Amino acid sequence: MGQAVIDRFKEKVWLSSPTIHGEEQKFVQRAFDTNWVAPLGENVDELEKEMAAYIGVKYGAALASGTSALHLALKLAGVGNGDVVICSDLTFAATVNPVSYENGIQVFVDCEYDTWNMDPKALEAALKKYRGKVRAVVAANLYGVPAKLDELVCLCQAYGVPLVEDAAESLSSTYKGRQTGSFGTYNCVSFNGNKIITTSGGGMLLSDDKGAIEKARFWATQARDPAPWYQHSEIGYNYRMSNVAAGIGRGQLMHLDEHRKRKREIYERYREGLKDIPVTMNPYLECSEPNFWLSCMTIERKLAESGKVTPEKIRRALDEKHVESRPIWKPMHLQPVYRDRDFVSVDGRDAGADIFARGLCLPSDIKMTEETQDKVMEIIRGCF
Ligand SMILES: *Cc1c(COP(=O)(O)O)cnc(C)c1O
Repeated sequence: MGQAVIDRFKEKVWLSSPTIHGEEQKFVQRAFDTNWVAPLGENVDELEKEMAAYIGVKYGAALASGTSALHLALKLAGVGNGDVVICSDLTFAATVNPVSYENGIQVFVDCEYDTWNMDPKALEAALKKYRGKVRAVVAANLYGVPAKLDELVCLCQAYGVPLVEDAAESLSSTYKGRQTGSFGTYNCVSFNGNKIITTSGGGMLLSDDKGAIEKARFWATQARDPAPWYQHSEIGYNYRMSNVAAGIGRGQLMHLDEHRKRKREIYERYREGLKDIPVTMNPYLECSEPNFWLSCMTIERKLAESGKVTPEKIRRALDEKHVESRPIWKPMHLQPVYRDRDFVSVDGRDAGADIFARGLCLPSDIKMTEETQDKVMEIIRGCF
């Protein structure tokens, strides 16, 4: 099709950067006015209630990050030395690293092609293979697309293993009308700077189990026994969210649905605008409504394999024009640090490696104008 002439953008076009509205400042100001800049305080309490209500779970513990939420979820599941934790394979390392914090052993499960998330068939194979040794299953909703959650929940119940739902990327996505982050025994969301809403940095652990959330708050504040002096019967962490950060979160939460709508528009414009080249947008189930945190595409297999058009070529072409794009998460079983871990898939396939080899995350920043997105698509088309 030939290279269209697009000028280099003066301002970088981001994958996904924070979008701040103003209400955030009001809640932060309240923290300053009352001198509750730290620790904890009203904003933390309210954010916990507001998030839990939004997602439809009973309790939430506001934490320093999504990663700390995942860590405490695994502790609540009782993961210890040598326990097997079955994990999504195609995901960000933060989904699976906390297993190692507790000296557990990850077993990675391949994804399916309908949502790019944990394949229920492969999960079942892993549950059978490691029967009696599995302490938890950690499943992510990649790029905001809900996994086949009914099947995953059903299998976890059948094998009596708690599900930890990593909804870090999928806040506000729904599956059969129900919010993600509510399907696990323990659920984690992230408010990192690049996520759909942010607290500058933070996360939350959510559960219907009151005792579990209280225990998580206890661990997250250095595990202080109820004594006048500092006494500890357990190892604790400094994992709590600050009252200032929570103030940002309360303001952001007011705009979550608006962010999701914009993300969806961006995804649909890509789907429409790229339909004349051999690429496919990241798929989702009819019964789900993703938050479209990141729009992603895969290049048609033969073309990618021929090396004529690769994700890396497109990434470099975009980068030259000052546009950020990113390879699909490199599967965990291909990570050097996890080379000794087991990988379970069905029919000898490796869907994660295939999607990684052909896929690219596209700029999905909700401040991106239609004109900018059109130019981004023009650059992509020029690579074919
Ligand atoms: C961002 C992310 C996390 C970690 O969240 P942080 O708040 O950055 O610690 C975990 N899992 C997935 C899938 C993520 O994308």
